[in-house]
Amino acid sequence: MNVDLHTHTYPASDCSHISYRDYVAWCVEHGIEAVALTNHGDMSDNRSLAPALAAEGVLLVHGVEISTLFGDFVVFSPDLDFLSTFAAVQDAPRAGELPPDAAVVWVHPGAGGGRSGSAYYLGLERMVAGVVDAVEVYNGNWLGERYVTAAEQIAAQLGAARTGGSDAHVAGQLMACYTELPDPVRSTADVVAALKQRRTIPHRAEARRPRRFGLF
Ligand SMILES: [Zn+2]
Ligand SMILES: [Zn+2]
Repeated sequence: MNVDLHTHTYPASDCSHISYRDYVAWCVEHGIEAVALTNHGDMSDNRSLAPALAAEGVLLVHGVEISTLFGDFVVFSPDLDFLSTFAAVQDAPRAGELPPDAAVVWVHPGAGGGRSGSAYYLGLERMVAGVVDAVEVYNGNWLGERYVTAAEQIAAQLGAARTGGSDAHVAGQLMACYTELPDPVRSTADVVAALKQRRTIPHRAEARRPRRFGLF
């Protein structure tokens, strides 16, 4: 199943222009089976949208994006209360501190931290080895070759899974990049398992030109 693993909605992400209505309508119109909502340190839209999407037969996968001195990370977990403990800007998660039902994706690593203002430097991956399950190699806002190449190299060095996500802030950008996951994907736990088992394939929609909406 193809799942966009990185999206933002308004108002939980004030940088996004995608309203609840737009998000649900886009998913229904495009036959989306599952999509991950990964707002910046705010789970309120996940709580609101999950039932609305479920009513349309769409699974909402739960994640939260955090900005740290090492870059931006998305933490996935089926436990919304656990995800609610994260702030938009905070310390990087440390190995051994996360519960087994959580997975961590280092998103747009070559682009640095969106809200922390941190920059990537060579060797930084050693600081997060052990905590990162996956690296986002295709991000809809950062498809320039240098960002993709850097992310591919980091993923290889860490032995991490590779993902794609649109990082959409407008509805038209959803699924610009996405991740192929082994079927079936019935819950956030299935996504966490696929990330931990390195069973993900990143894709970018080739027909689209990368467009940037907002910075991160
Ligand atoms: Zn980011
Ligand atoms: Zn993002």
